[in-house]
Amino acid sequence: MASSAKGKIVIISSPSGGGKSSICRMLLQRNPGWRFSISYTTRSRRPDEQHGREYYFVDNAEFDRLAREDYFAEHCKVHLYQYGTPRGPLEAVLADGGVMLLDIDVQGAEKIKTIYPEAITIFILPPSIPALRSRLSTRGTETQEQLQVRFENAKNELKLWAKFEYAVINENLETAINEVESVIVSHHCRTDRIPPEQIKNIIGYEGV
Ligand code: 5GP
Repeated sequence: MASSAKGKIVIISSPSGGGKSSICRMLLQRNPGWRFSISYTTRSRRPDEQHGREYYFVDNAEFDRLAREDYFAEHCKVHLYQYGTPRGPLEAVLADGGVMLLDIDVQGAEKIKTIYPEAITIFILPPSIPALRSRLSTRGTETQEQLQVRFENAKNELKLWAKFEYAVINENLETAINEVESVIVSHHCRTDRIPPEQIKNIIGYEGV
């Protein structure tokens, strides 16, 4: 059946260190009309992050209040903190058209796909486990304890790669960005995405 939603929700998941944040950042630079879903989190802000740009940084009480008010389309505990995707911006993009990128973990991906079955799901794979470990530790944003948690979780997250519709191996960042962009750009050409009215205008009837 063809989709009635105009916009595209694009879920990009990978273990920490897989490169999804860099991929999202570059995609947004290349495609200024695309939007990024800014999640809420209870983790502390890193020095290079801004409230309202990467995340909305809130305390546990505020996060729990928003969750109770059904403000999130999904929310999960990831590693040691809470993360949640606000529902409003997703609904706005679906109604108005456009592309919304979600950089979320595998649990969140599964929940969003259940609520929005037309969401595009892309998993970013590292070229190898040692490469993932080395990327994680060289970025220097976590303590040893946090790194260990992230690395152990990463090994479990990797097992879920085949649940996603697309998988992109991030060996070369530029190639990975091009591949993710191609998936997003070409998705609306799938036969099940073409509105029946449009087909009718072209060939005189709805086809199948
Ligand atoms: P980080 O703390 O490194 O920014 O993110 C940790 C993990 O949380 C990443 O896998 C990231 O994709 C995920 N994440 C970020 N925002 C959300 C969200 O709103 N929901 C879920 N489920 N995961 C999120």
